[in-house]
Amino acid sequence: MSISDGRPVLAVASECAPMVKTGGLADVVGALPMALAPQGWAIRTLLPGYRSVLAAFPRARVLADLPDLLGLPARLLGVSRGALDLLILDAPALYDRDGSPYLDENGQDWPDNDVRFAALSLAAARIARDGVGDWRPELVHLHDWQAGFVPIYLDQLGVNLPTVLTIHNIAFHGLTSADRMARLELSPARFNVNGFEYFGQVSALKAGLVGATAINTVSPTYAQELTTPDYGMGLDGVIRARAADMSGILNGIDTDTWDPVRDPAIQWYRLPSGKAANARLLRQEYGLDDGAGPLSIVVSRLSDQKGLDLLLAALPDYLAAGGQLALLGSGDARLEQAWRAAADANPGQVGVRIGYDEALSHRMYAGGDAVLVPSRFEPCGLTQMYGLRYGAVPVVARTGGLADTVIDANAAALAAGVATGILHASHSVSALAHALQRLCALHADTATFRRIQKNAMKHPVGWDASAPLYGALYSRLVDERTISQ
Ligand code: ADP
Repeated sequence: MSISDGRPVLAVASECAPMVKTGGLADVVGALPMALAPQGWAIRTLLPGYRSVLAAFPRARVLADLPDLLGLPARLLGVSRGALDLLILDAPALYDRDGSPYLDENGQDWPDNDVRFAALSLAAARIARDGVGDWRPELVHLHDWQAGFVPIYLDQLGVNLPTVLTIHNIAFHGLTSADRMARLELSPARFNVNGFEYFGQVSALKAGLVGATAINTVSPTYAQELTTPDYGMGLDGVIRARAADMSGILNGIDTDTWDPVRDPAIQWYRLPSGKAANARLLRQEYGLDDGAGPLSIVVSRLSDQKGLDLLLAALPDYLAAGGQLALLGSGDARLEQAWRAAADANPGQVGVRIGYDEALSHRMYAGGDAVLVPSRFEPCGLTQMYGLRYGAVPVVARTGGLADTVIDANAAALAAGVATGILHASHSVSALAHALQRLCALHADTATFRRIQKNAMKHPVGWDASAPLYGALYSRLVDERTISQ
């Protein structure tokens, strides 16, 4: 079946791999069309026409004019690449600039982010109403706050279509001040506690949470955590109120792009010789000594969420036990500085690259003995799944999707032959330090460690289990809407 044969869905997102990516959101948005095609769904993905996206598709076709999009000129372009069928919102006043999707060159939020993503949401609502040619979606899939206003605009335009909002990270609320409502063409009728008001401000995420027909997040454990004040980031009450419409569907990874046997970025790969060869190269690349202990890797945004300050505190004991660490990441300036200092203080044992480098990340999963993910919270997490697939044993905090994807190497799991990694309590330096001691001990027991690596590499991390869950959710919402009409 070709991808375009399925039932039509419009996805709305601010990132989509491989064109534009700052984190896991992009991987998931990029993977879902392929994953859901066999379920009978054909997803078209609406993406902002960032400078880099337009440059990647100079021959994109003009599909429609979208005049007066929040007072600005805009067009809709269309292009296909592999399984992706993209609708690109070309609005130069909003997206034709250098910098990342959300930040300017100085790392500050673009001051007009509210307009930039409200325009994306309004364009989606107009597409849902008018279609594109004879194409009309049966459902709109919203990703994170950047698509949060879609249900409000659909309502304002009088369009009755089911919507799903996927929460990839509830930390980002898309807040703007109440006096921006007119600029965003939002009716003030919804500016109240049951609508998109959030303590006197306007919240795009809350607009989606209260307005979408159904909500899901990217792991069952995070879905549960979101109902609690510790994890709900001020929106746990809203989530609890929508408990009947809320579910957790674990992310998968693209097992073609992330395939240790065929990955062009790494050496030919098989345990144990392939791992050893890739580890040798990685040590060279990072200027690390030949070591007998485990080579751990971190590939991460450097933000408070990721717990890498906890790892800095746990580092001395780990290094004393013979461990080594290679880190690739960027973000918070203080963390970047602290990690550079850790590398300077521990030459040959700790290597740090500040930046974003997709190909290097592949070499790291291939060469690492372990991948460390000590997050304070983690909606799903993808890096532990890349680690599983490439035999880099995940050492992860017991939270969110990390808890749902890694089986701790405790005595029972080792005896049953199912262990894939190491879990530790989140938020705790001592628990992390203890987990790293366990890693060193397991690594020294070569036969056991190899068994864990083999289990890890066999663990299913693709979309086979989750794609039918999304398919069933889509079907239920479309069918319920049809019956109620
Ligand atoms: P989040 O979305 O919170 O950043 P995830 O684990 O869900 O975390 O996804 C992170 C994705 O971004 C993974 O694909 C990871 O490999 C990638 N990534 C993060 N930082 C870097 C980096 N500095 N260089 C290359 N890839 C990175």
